[in-house]
Amino acid sequence: MHQGQPSLLEPEEQVLSTLNRDGSRRWLRPRLSPGRFLSARRWVGYLLIALFTALPYITINGRPAMLLDIARREFALFGYVFRPTDTILLALFMVSLIVTIFLLTALLGRVWCGWACPQTVYLELVYRPIERLFEGPPQRGGKPGKHAGGVRTLLKYAVYLLVSLFLAHTFLAYFVGVERLVQWVQLSPLHHPGPFLVMLLTTGLMMFDFCFFREQTCIVACPYGRFQSVMLDRESLIISYDPSRGEPRGKLRRTPKNQTALPVTTGDCVDCGLCVETCPTGIDIREGLQMECVGCAQCIDACDSVMARIGRPLGLIRYSSQSRIEREPRKRFRPRLFFYPAILTITISVLLIVFFNKPVMDVTILRNKGLPYALLPASGEISNSLRVKVVNRTDVSATLDVELIDCPQGRIDSNELPISLAPGADGSASMLVVLPPEAFPTGRQDVTLRITDHADISIEKTYRLLGPVFTPDGTANPHQETGNE
Ligand code: SF4
Ligand code: SF4
Repeated sequence: MHQGQPSLLEPEEQVLSTLNRDGSRRWLRPRLSPGRFLSARRWVGYLLIALFTALPYITINGRPAMLLDIARREFALFGYVFRPTDTILLALFMVSLIVTIFLLTALLGRVWCGWACPQTVYLELVYRPIERLFEGPPQRGGKPGKHAGGVRTLLKYAVYLLVSLFLAHTFLAYFVGVERLVQWVQLSPLHHPGPFLVMLLTTGLMMFDFCFFREQTCIVACPYGRFQSVMLDRESLIISYDPSRGEPRGKLRRTPKNQTALPVTTGDCVDCGLCVETCPTGIDIREGLQMECVGCAQCIDACDSVMARIGRPLGLIRYSSQSRIEREPRKRFRPRLFFYPAILTITISVLLIVFFNKPVMDVTILRNKGLPYALLPASGEISNSLRVKVVNRTDVSATLDVELIDCPQGRIDSNELPISLAPGADGSASMLVVLPPEAFPTGRQDVTLRITDHADISIEKTYRLLGPVFTPDGTANPHQETGNE
């Protein structure tokens, strides 16, 4: 192999911004670039951190503003409790959320990633400031500050651990509620080994993510980042370098007499490299839109500070769109901006209709195991064995009866009625619904069951009973009579 030629194993071009040519990780220590976008992101970020931390403590209608109680299969959201029977609501909510993300990305690009995602918010506004506090700001090339030493690094990890423990407890509060969490903190871990292990695991994951994995989460692990190329179009808002203004780039030349720094023969980009050094994912935005860009706007702040110093207009790197940067005429019709809002309007309308028409009790009628029906030997009547399950969605206790309506020849036999339910609880009762054989001229009969507390609650459900095919001469379909329909 000739000297100077790359080894056979070396890639011809850079595969990933955080990979060295030999495949080892390129560690990033981005420089902080103060500016208007960093200030705005700090406001948004710290407000979001306050919100993430406070949500489990806030109560609405006596319930946590957000509680994802997996053990009891209940999700409390802003005072409303969703239960497993709310599958349709949950499905509509998820579809609306996904379409909203598609719409926002088409309009605003990766504004979520750069401004609101907990990964970015906590990494850039909590963990990196702690790092800078103990190790000093990074020098050129992203090396730790000159004061970084063993003790300082040790202290940094100790603070990281405390912060991660706090975050893990906050995270757990979303699943178990604050009251239970406070009880657990005051007791020995042996009293609640499962949740304690979850807390340890979460702390470990936070330490792994914010101390080690960092930008790799956005670059290789997060599916949203991988999908962005299909969600953006040429009119979407992105952070972009303007090559028509910046190129040909070149170092700043100073005129001998006049010490005002002026680029003489080059474009506005003075190739200072600040936009690269400040980038938390290690990319060079001057190479165009890249999947790794999380839209944090740090390169805008960095470049604006340079432009201000050399007396050039700000915005060499700016919020724009691919078509604006390439001076294309503005596209008036963007199909995705028509379809996404249309789908969103439909799903949200259906969601609201379902939500506001939700009954106060969820009622499910199930057929008990065994034969679909039975012939009562004493009376010759036909019985269907059913189970009525009820979820009390109200804040008060309820005692519920089940009645057969518009069917004078039928009756309900059960020793499990009435069903007594605490607020938010569910219960069930088994019963036999008995009808004479002539009620089944076709081998089936629809009946209506009313679930009622004989006061305010009255929910009617139609259910199909099965029986033998009745013939006026008294014979019955032998196949049906065995119940092997
Ligand atoms: S910060 Fe601005 S001037 Fe400096 S290299 Fe980047 S684009 Fe060019
Ligand atoms: S290119 Fe700019 S906006 Fe994108 S991640 Fe890097 S610094 Fe942030």
